[in-house]
Amino acid sequence: HYKRTSPGLVGIYTEALYDKMHHEQQLREGLRQAIERKQLLVVYQPIIDASSNRLWAIEALLRWQFNDTWVSPDEFIPLAEKSGTIHDIGAWVLHRACIDAAQWDDESFGVSVNVSVLQLVSEDFVACVDRALASSGLAPQRLHLEVTESIFADDMAVLTANISALKARRVKVAIDDFGTGFSSLNLLQSLDFDLLKIDRAFVQQMAVSSDAIVKATVLMAKALGCKTVAEGVETEEQASLLRLLGVDCLQGYLFARPLEKKALQEWYTSWQDNK
Ligand code: C2E
Ligand code: MG
Ligand code: MG
Ligand code: MG
Repeated sequence: HYKRTSPGLVGIYTEALYDKMHHEQQLREGLRQAIERKQLLVVYQPIIDASSNRLWAIEALLRWQFNDTWVSPDEFIPLAEKSGTIHDIGAWVLHRACIDAAQWDDESFGVSVNVSVLQLVSEDFVACVDRALASSGLAPQRLHLEVTESIFADDMAVLTANISALKARRVKVAIDDFGTGFSSLNLLQSLDFDLLKIDRAFVQQMAVSSDAIVKATVLMAKALGCKTVAEGVETEEQASLLRLLGVDCLQGYLFARPLEKKALQEWYTSWQDNK
């Protein structure tokens, strides 16, 4: 009698675990064919210059339609990273975003593409960026790459070399979701980022409790020579506080949700008329 477990309970647990694994397995398999089956879509969210209110850049955000449902990138990107499809998918997004930005008659704003750390530490990533730039004709200084701070020291040599190669081409590198990940301040100093994106958690906290983190982040970014972008700006109150604190650029639902290319062009026309 020393171990009385309920068989029923174990059964349910196993079944739930099995379902989850089966679901993940299906997604992983599905991801392998997502490109050829044309299930991937890139949407774009505007990033606004905080002082002039002009469009400063657009951020490319990936969408995947699988079995008639839209799967969130927060769910499928980690799976793509685990199964290795992130390299093909990442290259596809990069090409798509560069082409869309280059085809626009207005060249005054940049295009920001999220890249996985796995891409950034891969030996042929710089060649992949070169191909996207060459085939689209996009000016390299218009391309920004966003990487979430979860960088591991093992990969430092390739990472550092890739970042310097990108910077030599005048491509800008941004640290995304700043303040939520694992990177150290030391890394921030040694890697020489161009942009720092303040995570929306701090933007949301600012108006309710304290603006200390945003304030300190802006000062630190200035000292390091980084531009700052605040993410997840949803209210006028947040926008004006961020302007007061000297944040360079603003992004969030207050200005626009991520939009398909055509809807973005319409948004841009009305934005220019009304700002
Ligand atoms: P992220 O790069 O930090 O992107 C910002 C996320 O916040 C996006 O979610 C965006 O839709 C959402 N957002 C923007 N403004 C607001 C706002 O005002 N309020 C709120 N509540 N949310 C806002 P999304 O599109 O679901 O993307 C989630 C994450 O998935 C991204 O976070 C990024 O880390 C990753 N991701 C998306 N596309 C790609 C991609 O092409 N490659 C890679 N490696 N990762 C991607
Ligand atoms: Mg991002
Ligand atoms: Mg972010
Ligand atoms: Mg994020």
